[in-house]
Amino acid sequence: MSNLDLKPVATRCGGDASTGPVRELLTGRAVQLGESTEVRRLLPAMGRRMVGAWCFVDHYGPDDIADEPGMQVPPHPHMGLQTVSWLHEGEVLHRDSLGSLQTVRPRELGLMTSGRAISHSEESPRSHARFLHGAQLWVALPDAHRHTAPTFEHHAHLPEITAAGLHGTVILGSVDGATSPGTTYTPLLGVDLTLTERTATRLPLEPAFEYAALAISGSVDVDGVLVEPGSILYLGCGRRELPLLARTDASLLLLGGEPFEEEIVMWWNFIGRTDEDIRQAREDWTTGSRFGEVHGYDGARLAAPEVPQVPLKPRGRAR
Ligand code: MN
Repeated sequence: MSNLDLKPVATRCGGDASTGPVRELLTGRAVQLGESTEVRRLLPAMGRRMVGAWCFVDHYGPDDIADEPGMQVPPHPHMGLQTVSWLHEGEVLHRDSLGSLQTVRPRELGLMTSGRAISHSEESPRSHARFLHGAQLWVALPDAHRHTAPTFEHHAHLPEITAAGLHGTVILGSVDGATSPGTTYTPLLGVDLTLTERTATRLPLEPAFEYAALAISGSVDVDGVLVEPGSILYLGCGRRELPLLARTDASLLLLGGEPFEEEIVMWWNFIGRTDEDIRQAREDWTTGSRFGEVHGYDGARLAAPEVPQVPLKPRGRAR
């Protein structure tokens, strides 16, 4: 998915990771993508830009698209990040400038590493399921790997964890002895947890990681705080386990990682380190260089918005 904000604000991420456990409930905001799709943007949030290297989380649906085209995100570029396509219902057809053509289905991992440059489109197939429900997540690449060659991975079978009333699918990283095959560049975790009503359980955590939880459906008490769709609970670092209590049948995404200490500049679909990185990327997309071409998408590619006149400068570690 693309960040289709008409006037995206420059977002600086990094730093200021909490040093111990906290419970900080952050409310997402509704963002209109294109003409018909509204998403809940949970990261970046006011007061919390990143969780580990996770720097962008949109939760969309469930949307009834029975009589609609559904998702239609034209070709657009990425730089300096990985995109994770994660579905609970429906399907997304991914095309990219490497020539990848892949349908991603519920609880399969579509993982695109942009490295220095890639472009892609995402659309609901012409014949699609009635409901579309999922999340689009971005992972910032560390400086040492942000110029890496672009790749696309599709993992249809991901490792699972189970306990009484709990079923988890490991999206990226490792939890409770299960490790995702998806390529990562910093220590991080993404796991999808499905709980049946009244399940009380504790999930083992890595104390060096910071974590946050968001609900995809239903209601869960996460360390005693009610989490429902539309908000994200930041949990800080220093935890060895996480108490969960399902008030209803529910699904949670738990995101975590080693606090990302680098300062980054995030604008539109790009992550760089300097104002110049971003302006050059925009220029290259506009002039048709570096980002390649997506073939087969029925429509024009996305034009980049104007970069703000003010320099996109680092402003220190801001929450
Ligand atoms: Mn995208």
